[in-house]
Amino acid sequence: MKTYDWIVVGAGITGAALAYELVKKDCKVLLLEQYATPRNATRYSYGGLAFWCGVTPLTRQLCDEGIARHRILSEELDADTEFRKLDLLLTISADTDPASVAASYTRFAIPPKLLSLKEACELEPLLNQEVIAGALTVKHGHIHPGKTTTRLHQRLFACRW
Ligand SMILES: Cc1cc2nc3c(=O)[nH]c(=O)nc-3n(C[C@H](O)[C@H](O)[C@H](O)COP(=O)(O)OP(=O)(O)OC[C@H]3O[C@@H](n4cnc5c(N)ncnc54)[C@H](O)[C@@H]3O)c2cc1C
Repeated sequence: MKTYDWIVVGAGITGAALAYELVKKDCKVLLLEQYATPRNATRYSYGGLAFWCGVTPLTRQLCDEGIARHRILSEELDADTEFRKLDLLLTISADTDPASVAASYTRFAIPPKLLSLKEACELEPLLNQEVIAGALTVKHGHIHPGKTTTRLHQRLFACRW
């Protein structure tokens, strides 16, 4: 009977990443998944990386360390995770005061920038000007969660003993 240092249950992006990091630390890991074809949250995820929204020392640290991993993951995995930064646009409804919405975001590590209605529409011309008072914008990370997880699985398979 084989023995393992860790048994990870579930091979979505969390389990796959955890198993991968443990194997990198020379742990013997058993990764268990109930389905051969994934039908999990990872499969449907948009892949957004909200690294800007840490609000406590711990969540800020996790955001910083997480985005640092994603910056180098494609190279480390020798496969494209499609990591990139996008302009996230958070619209503010016409019946809301833009300044008070912006103020409620100041607690985040990287507070989104307040855009006037004109600036928001220049960034995204398809916005309906009649229903918004403005928008907030911030750089938002993005990956392809399926490709990232599949590549983590492949790397784990390659480490099998
Ligand atoms: C539409 C949508 C959009 C999203 N967009 C974003 C986004 O932009 N940014 C973001 O950060 N998050 C987003 N999320 C959330 C994100 O997808 C999840 O937080 C993430 O995928 C969870 O990963 P996971 O590995 O924990 O869970 P899952 O991907 O659900 O994987 C869990 C796995 O565990 C397996 N499992 C469960 N029980 C057992 C068992 N007893 N034995 C064996 N296997 C088991 C399941 O089969 C499954 O494969 C989104 C989610 C959805 C649905």
